[in-house]
Amino acid sequence: MILIDGKKEAGSLRLKLKEEVNELKKKFNDVPGLTVILIGELAPSQIYVRNKEKSAKEVGLNSDVIKYPEDVDEKTVLKKIKDLNENKSISGILVQLPLPKHIDKKKIIDTIIPIKDVDGFHPVNVGNLSTGYESSIPCTPLGCYLLLKKVEPNLSGKKALIIGRSNLNGKPMAQLLLKENCTVTITHSKTKNLKSECLEADIIIAAVGIPKLVKGDWVKKDSIVIDVGINKTDKGIVGDVDFEEVSKKAKALTPVPGGVGPMTIACLIKNTIDCFKRIKSS
Ligand code: NAD
Repeated sequence: MILIDGKKEAGSLRLKLKEEVNELKKKFNDVPGLTVILIGELAPSQIYVRNKEKSAKEVGLNSDVIKYPEDVDEKTVLKKIKDLNENKSISGILVQLPLPKHIDKKKIIDTIIPIKDVDGFHPVNVGNLSTGYESSIPCTPLGCYLLLKKVEPNLSGKKALIIGRSNLNGKPMAQLLLKENCTVTITHSKTKNLKSECLEADIIIAAVGIPKLVKGDWVKKDSIVIDVGINKTDKGIVGDVDFEEVSKKAKALTPVPGGVGPMTIACLIKNTIDCFKRIKSS
């Protein structure tokens, strides 16, 4: 079984991105700038933001974090986003999710101009991805896609099954795999007989949020399984895939932790650089 080492792949991607930033610096006398807005004190969000800032700095980006208390009003955040939209030294804006209940997620996402939307959540970017135009691609599915291409460069004609239909993971993942000429099935909480759907698949992407949902007898021999899930349990962090069981059947599998997670952050850096390049050429 091939253990898909996301930590290693993310490390090599960051190295390549660092070289790219050096080249961009020579060409434009400027480097990409990423601003993250963090609202409240949720521990996982604070950890993600710290890791994002660390990676951005390591690669040579200008990076800063704007922190607001949990009870900040929506207008203040929207005004800040509008200022960042206008700020020429900023190429990427990210508002860390989830947001407090009194802040409208859609308004926040819609206010970030698409060219600086490093998360790829703005409807313009979602539309561009689904119609095949250049766009920012949500970081986690982009990371899954890059890992998948590493093990299987030719995805054409493969049966790909995605578990989960979120805007963050399942839907953009489906678009990326369609573009690669996979035959794509998206399953979700109302899908009947998920096990038999999984048994048909050459590729399974599990993005559900249920610990060890995908069992060894759900997967075809020689399938490739990408586990997006991050679930906190009494026994530590586990994925949506039963690693012990599935590793005995699959051709390739991502571990949790150390699989998709590190790639997500590296792809955020990639997206910030790509936004910078689009801004410079627009
Ligand atoms: P979400 O809650 O937005 O979506 C979950 C999806 O799973 C929904 O579409 C739902 O219909 C489907 N679902 C629920 N129960 C199901 C069932 N029994 N059978 C089939 N489908 C079912 O979650 P999300 O934001 O897409 O995140 C999914 C998982 O990925 C979570 O564990 C999250 O922590 C993790 N995640 C990881 C990364 C990373 O970088 N590795 C990034 C984002 C999210």
